Amino acid sequence: MNTESLDVIAVGAHPDDLEIACGGTLAKLARQGHRVGMIDLTDGEPTPCSPGPEVRLEEARRAAEVLGVAKRITLDLPNRRLFDGFDARVALAKEFRRYRPRLVLGLSGATPLASPDHYQAGLIIDAAVFYSRLTKWDECFDGLPPHTIDRQLYTPFGLRSLTVGATPCVVVDIGETLEQKMQALACYKTQFPPQKAGVLDRIRTAALHYGQVAGFTAGEVLGSPTPLGTGDLMGLLFGPDIVGKGEN
Ligand SMILES: [Zn+2]
Repeated sequence: MNTESLDVIAVGAHPDDLEIACGGTLAKLARQGHRVGMIDLTDGEPTPCSPGPEVRLEEARRAAEVLGVAKRITLDLPNRRLFDGFDARVALAKEFRRYRPRLVLGLSGATPLASPDHYQAGLIIDAAVFYSRLTKWDECFDGLPPHTIDRQLYTPFGLRSLTVGATPCVVVDIGETLEQKMQALACYKTQFPPQKAGVLDRIRTAALHYGQVAGFTAGEVLGSPTPLGTGDLMGLLFGPDIVGKGEN
């Protein structure tokens, strides 16, 4: 088993959540040389058009390959019955302790009219980030040592809302990885059959909108649970990858 540490771990409830919420960001981080991992808390099955978990897992494996991430893990928590609870928190915290990321990206917030698993995933992620660093509790985590995660950011689904995510928020420029995101989503033939092509159109449209709000071709929004600070104001405002300096 490859337990080389990861720089970033993103966590979703079902295979395809992360591609929808932050696939372009994950692809970009991987391009920038960071070791990126994806964790799906459940296998996402059953769903109406899928023959079963094996097919969905293969779709997820191929999507991760398209995004260029180093690792994808599927936990065996139950789809449709995902609840924040001790066992779920420990299962995820074990992965954090094993792979020792600096940054965790995770779902946050309720998704009315869609699966309540997404909201529960957010609760589990918040707790697991905390559990990861607790000392004098190694027996709950197979002896894996504590690990403090430096930063946590939220990756909201914004498709059914006029407001996206927490404040403060940051828009990641995914102009160069938007097509990778869409190709990764296209791997999920069981989730996006031809009759649901409109969903993919909405995901693309949202990325174009969020990007253009910040002066990019395409973007994804991340929220921060705490204010983002800087010791380098000019670097923050005028660094090489910052757009939106003037009227874009
Ligand atoms: Zn989902």
